[in-house]
Amino acid sequence: MTERPLADNIAKLLERVRLGAEKSQRNSGDIRVLAVSKTRPASDIRAAYECGLRDFGESYLQEALPKISELTDLDIRWHFIGPIQSNKTRQIAEHFDWVHSVDRARVAKRLNDQRPLQMPALQVCLQVNISGEESKSGATVEELPALVREVLSLPRLCLRGLMAIPAATNDPEAQRRAFAQLRSSLEQLQLFAPGMDTLSMGMSGDLEAAIHEGATIVRTGSALFGARNR
Ligand SMILES: *Cc1c(COP(=O)(O)O)cnc(C)c1O
Repeated sequence: MTERPLADNIAKLLERVRLGAEKSQRNSGDIRVLAVSKTRPASDIRAAYECGLRDFGESYLQEALPKISELTDLDIRWHFIGPIQSNKTRQIAEHFDWVHSVDRARVAKRLNDQRPLQMPALQVCLQVNISGEESKSGATVEELPALVREVLSLPRLCLRGLMAIPAATNDPEAQRRAFAQLRSSLEQLQLFAPGMDTLSMGMSGDLEAAIHEGATIVRTGSALFGARNR
């Protein structure tokens, strides 16, 4: 794919978010764009930052750490959005502001115990396997209440909401159904965890459907940086 200028892509994406919010009678200020910078060099992140983006998401710890240390002069909020291996929790707890992919109590407990005391509490979303795909990580909807109670008891974690990556589909109705399911799970949990205010859902291909169903963070990679060549 030919490289389109980043500033253009960012402007187009923000316009998609604005229009999506307007169509759903939502305030676009309530929807945060998380720039997913996996596979992209630190120079791309710096360029996107200079265009005004502040939130960046990484999926692979070994790839993220050198970029984070190269960009310490910038006021970036780093979000970890990839699968979490237990032996990686310390570095996640030490280097990230948000984690979207907590899906079991053991990982939550380790992140809590390893979060440095001089840092603010780690902002946490629980990843939900909303489409019930065997290959995907994420807690089941049934596991959520117990997991929420566990995370609420951990003082170094601040439980913010839910994250999902539904099965990929081009059917807007199916996209909406999956996102609506996540929203309804959040609404049930809010009855005893009123601090949960975040729905991390929607990517480059389905962010309109996600915004329609209440997304407060959309995670976009290819719409900003172009297709990934792995
Ligand atoms: C890669 C990735 C994204 C971004 O996907 P795009 O389709 O490039 O926007 C969002 N969320 C997660 C968890 C990802 O791994």
